[in-house]
Amino acid sequence: MRWPSGASSPPVPELPEVEVVRAGLLPAVTGATVLGAEVLDERALTRHNGDAASFERALSGRRMSTAARRGKFLWLPLSPEDDASAAAEALIAHLGMSGQLLLRASGAPRERHERIRLHLDHPSHGELAIVFADQRTFGSLAIDRLVPTADDAPGGWGSSAASTPSQVAHIARDPLDPAFSDAAFRQRLALHRAAVKRVLLDQTVVSGVGNIYADESLWAARIHPETPAAALSTRAVNRLLQEIRVVLERALAEGGTSFDAQYVNVNGQAGYFAHSLNAYGRTGQPCPRCGRPIMRVAFTNRSSHYCAHCQRRRERSGAHRATAARDGAAMPAAGAVR
Ligand SMILES: [Zn+2]
Repeated sequence: MRWPSGASSPPVPELPEVEVVRAGLLPAVTGATVLGAEVLDERALTRHNGDAASFERALSGRRMSTAARRGKFLWLPLSPEDDASAAAEALIAHLGMSGQLLLRASGAPRERHERIRLHLDHPSHGELAIVFADQRTFGSLAIDRLVPTADDAPGGWGSSAASTPSQVAHIARDPLDPAFSDAAFRQRLALHRAAVKRVLLDQTVVSGVGNIYADESLWAARIHPETPAAALSTRAVNRLLQEIRVVLERALAEGGTSFDAQYVNVNGQAGYFAHSLNAYGRTGQPCPRCGRPIMRVAFTNRSSHYCAHCQRRRERSGAHRATAARDGAAMPAAGAVR
C-alpha cells in the first residue's frame, strides 16, 4: 500500500473515484435483469434492513434501469422485470473506506475480499457478474426505498427520476450537479462558525468534497482551512466553489486520485490524479505557487495540508486586524477573507 507522504491514513474513495465506478457500471447494468445474488459475508449488509436471504430475494428477477450517484453514494434503481413503471426501490452501495464494485465475466474466479456477487443477464452483453469486494468491511450494499427529492430535480448523476434512496435523502448535492444551488450553499456557510474545511466535509451542506479535494480547492482559492465559514466573503465563497468545480472536473478527467492498491475502478486500473496534487500529501514540499513549504496540521483524525503564505489565516474577530495594523499590513475589510 502506498499513499502520499504526510497523509495519516489511506485515501478513501471520493466523488471522482465513485463516478469512475458509476460510469463503468452504467452500460453493464442498464436494462440488465438480476438472475441472483450471493452474500458471502453478511458484514457487507450492515446498512441493509434485513438478512442475507431477504437481500437475495429482493434482487432476484429485478431489472436495473441505470446507475445513479449523488456525491459518493451510488444506487441502481430496481424495477419489476415486466413493469416499465418507475422504480420504487434501489440497490444502494456505500463503498466506505475500501469497497470496490467490480465488473466481471460470468463465472470469474472469486476476488480477494469478495463479500457479495450479483449475477446479471444483460440483453446485449449476456451474463455478467458484479462483485462487491471490501478489504475492511466498512462498506455495505443495501436495498432501500426511493423517496422524492425535496427540490423536484433529478436525484443525481445518471438519474432522470426526481428521487433518491431514503439513505441518501439527507446528503446535499455536489457542486457539479446541475441542480446544486450556489445561493443555498452561500447561505449555509454564512450560518457556520466552524472552520470552512469542516463545513466542506459536512455531507449535508455539500457532498463530494472529501479530505483530498477540500485541501486542494482551499489551496487553489487561497483560503486557510481553519477560517470560520461565516467569515468568508461572498467573493471568497464564489472563488472556493469555482475551485472545487475545477478540482473535481480535473480529477474526473484523470480518473480519480486512487494511489492505493485497495481502490481500483471497474476495469482494474488505478487512477493517477495523485501526480497533479498541489497541497494534499505534500508536507514539506514547495508550494507550486510561492515555493514555500506546504504545512500539515492535525484535522480531526486526519490532516490538513496548506501553504501558510498563500492561505493566510484571517478571523472575523478584531484580534487579527489589530495585529495586522500593528505590523503595518493591509487590514482586511471587516475581517472578511477577500
Ligand atoms: Zn504558497
